Amino acid sequence: MTAAQYDLIVVGLGAMGAAALYQASRRGARALGIDRYQPPHIMGSSHGDTRITREAVGEGEVYMPFVKRSNAIWRELEMASGRELFHRSGGLIIGGQHAAAFHYQGDFVAASARIAEKHGIDYEILKSDTLRQRFPLLQPRDSDRAYYEPGAGVLRPERCIEAQLEQAQAQGARIHTGEKVISFAASADGVTVTSERGRYRAGKLILAAGAWISEFLPAAQRGGIRVNRQVIHWFEAEDRRQFLPERFPFVIWIGDTQEDFWSVFPAPPAGMPGVKLVTEQYHTSTQPDAVSRQVTEAEKADMFQRLTVPRLRGLREKCLHAEVCLYTLTRDEHFVIDFHPASQRVVVASPCSGHGFKHSAAVGETLAQLALDGGCAFDISAFTLARFDA
Ligand SMILES: Cc1cc2nc3c(=O)[nH]c(=O)nc-3n(C[C@H](O)[C@H](O)[C@H](O)COP(=O)(O)OP(=O)(O)OC[C@H]3O[C@@H](n4cnc5c(N)ncnc54)[C@H](O)[C@@H]3O)c2cc1C
Repeated sequence: MTAAQYDLIVVGLGAMGAAALYQASRRGARALGIDRYQPPHIMGSSHGDTRITREAVGEGEVYMPFVKRSNAIWRELEMASGRELFHRSGGLIIGGQHAAAFHYQGDFVAASARIAEKHGIDYEILKSDTLRQRFPLLQPRDSDRAYYEPGAGVLRPERCIEAQLEQAQAQGARIHTGEKVISFAASADGVTVTSERGRYRAGKLILAAGAWISEFLPAAQRGGIRVNRQVIHWFEAEDRRQFLPERFPFVIWIGDTQEDFWSVFPAPPAGMPGVKLVTEQYHTSTQPDAVSRQVTEAEKADMFQRLTVPRLRGLREKCLHAEVCLYTLTRDEHFVIDFHPASQRVVVASPCSGHGFKHSAAVGETLAQLALDGGCAFDISAFTLARFDA
């Protein structure tokens, strides 16, 4: 058996893998990161100019240490990289009487307020008339109410990934891009990773392959994970300045049915032209290499006519750009952060169920701890792979 070339290999350099490589190299580990594309790229889950981050994470109390620690890391990275990674815009979560129908723990507006209250985070609950006064572009129904968090905002995902990969390299990490990993084998004394181009030996391995993670998992766990195609649209604004982060918050709008979920994002300086709009779909799953990357005219019309016109003023029905993005979902829509069933030398983190970016800096740190120390600072007992065992 040849000696290990690296302390650690990270497969996949999207949000989670870039953060893990950065954190491991920061600790002095000899680290190699490998990605099949050229990160940041538009084939996975971490593109699209902006990602929402909130301090009160209504998806569950378990995420609070991750978001707090991530916010601290983003600030450090801004200093180290000279890049602006976060824009404070404030954030609204609007829900009607039937919002309890589907989003995470039920009533997402109430869940966010409960967590904000407990953690001393500034927030307000706004009724529809106050919403209309404070945010005149929005058109809530009388029955809608909103959770408003003034300290929330948007991250710039491509910049976050670039900054972490640059810092990792500056700290000695090696990065191979355009190189697909085919398989790995773990033994008592190390891990061998086989790619299209070569074989590498390391003490530990982190698998952060996003929508492709099932390729590295045993059949028993694959069933717990599915990939859903989502679409990001950018529509032309009558006046884009009205949507700058200092004037316009992100809005998560939870409608009365699962198909009625809609978000609009503030338009940051030096960002994509137009205003970003997204919805979510949970009914049709796909495979990451087979997914259609084309966005149809019908999808664009649906986004504008059905979801946007009733809720928002200030946009024209002209879609400037659209991209497909992948949600890697678990059955309970929570994360996976765990050792691989085959070996404690291998750590798995990927299915971040459509809400992972805001936590990714701290997830990366946790992955580095798991790989290099065998344990981690935060409670990850909710994120096991074993919960999918048949
Ligand atoms: C439309 C959309 C909107 C979202 N909005 C938000 C939001 O507002 N806030 C939020 O917090 N989260 C949001 N998310 C979720 C968040 O972006 C994801 O949870 C996160 O980006 C996932 O990161 P990842 O590292 O797991 O996956 P990716 O970033 O996709 O990284 C996986 C990487 O693995 C590489 N790879 C795969 N297989 C191989 C292989 N065999 N060999 C080598 N490399 C490989 C891929 O090329 C890729 O670079 C959103 C997601 C989408 C799709």
